[in-house]
Amino acid sequence: MSLIVEKFGGTSVGTVERINAVADKLIKKHEAGEKLVVVVSAMSGETNRLITLANEISDAPPAREMDVLVSTGEQVTIALLSMALQKRGNDARSYTGGQVTIRTDNVHSKARILDIDDDKIISDLDQGRIVVVAGFQGIDNSGNITTLGRGGSDTTAVAVAAAIKADECRIYTDVDGIYTTDPRVVPEAKRLDTITAEEMLELASLGAKVLQTRSVEFAGKYKVPLRVLSSFEDGVGTLITYEEEGSSMEAPLISGIAFQRDEAKLTIRGIPDHPGVAHQVLGPISDAHINVDVIIQNASAKGLTDLTFTVPRADYQPCMELLHGMVDTLGAKDVKGDDKIAKVSIVGVGMRSHTGVANTMFKTLADNDINIQMISTSEIKISVIVDESKLEQAVKELHKAFELDL
Ligand code: ADP
Ligand code: ASP
Ligand code: MG
Repeated sequence: MSLIVEKFGGTSVGTVERINAVADKLIKKHEAGEKLVVVVSAMSGETNRLITLANEISDAPPAREMDVLVSTGEQVTIALLSMALQKRGNDARSYTGGQVTIRTDNVHSKARILDIDDDKIISDLDQGRIVVVAGFQGIDNSGNITTLGRGGSDTTAVAVAAAIKADECRIYTDVDGIYTTDPRVVPEAKRLDTITAEEMLELASLGAKVLQTRSVEFAGKYKVPLRVLSSFEDGVGTLITYEEEGSSMEAPLISGIAFQRDEAKLTIRGIPDHPGVAHQVLGPISDAHINVDVIIQNASAKGLTDLTFTVPRADYQPCMELLHGMVDTLGAKDVKGDDKIAKVSIVGVGMRSHTGVANTMFKTLADNDINIQMISTSEIKISVIVDESKLEQAVKELHKAFELDL
């Protein structure tokens, strides 16, 4: 008997009809002999609705209460799905993260899973029950409700699959697999039959929200057999593979393109250059829990240096204020910024064994009159910062240039 974890995202459980449809399919699979643990998200739009409510009450809602609030979305879905399953004759049980128990650290709104006590899950499965677990949430050592960051139900599913050593973890969503890029932006994007965990990790962390980055980290660490499929149509979806390094010779040059819209860039100019400058500037920003992404420090002319870096757009104003506060102490000239930028990244393990990829990328952007503001590379990815208004064009042209639509 195979042991399967299935996760359904917000759109897949967005209405009562859809919850009923999910229940019908689960019952069929259960009858066909699968032991099933089901992880669900909040109904689509619900998490955003709850966040809006909080923002109407307070400019800075307390993190602990925010988690109490947003975790309710998933609690609604587990109850409704369990009812639907019970109505169809299975003695299903729903569990919140705290009830399972999914133990996390205490970092509200971006907690990390520490361990999962799977006793209840295993015992229910042994009694023939379908087990329904709330995604996105856990509990810290003091009993506080925590959440795992937007898209966190993916991570719940993979972590549960790792804990119970499931034969497969299936992520059901509103597209039928992982594509060469977001099919909503490039209709010519192609579904991939397989993608390496390494590439998927890059794509996710560079903005492809089809899987939460941490879920892919978990999958890689515990080698969880992971597949992304459509919850609306039948199909094989996309399998995440764990290939050894070295197989990249046959790999396509580029496997996918990811992008991130809400970025901002800041520059502090004319800082007297001496050891420790980057630390002096970026230290206070990291202390403020602002995530700095691409960083460039210019070679200094006349003993002065410029430091440019990107942050999430939501952190642009606080970051600007921090930099203005440093100008005098550092003896810097001034601070500049632009909060209308975006990041486009190409990803592929094939880059390891082929040259010329960067060239093709830069030439394609140049031919289309798209100015590159910053560049950052690693072994299997190249990212560029461009003006926000050029983002979609850049993604489409690169998709064509690397023949991903063929
Ligand atoms: P769910 O609510 O099921 O968790 P998400 O909205 O989080 O679904 O993720 C699915 C979405 O991810 C798709 O609708 C698609 O627009 C987007 N997406 C971005 N990049 C990709 C990609 N490379 N392949 C497939 N989908 C992608
Ligand atoms: N409901 C949460 C969100 O919207 C978690 C998830 O859907 O994975 O981010
Ligand atoms: Mg998601």
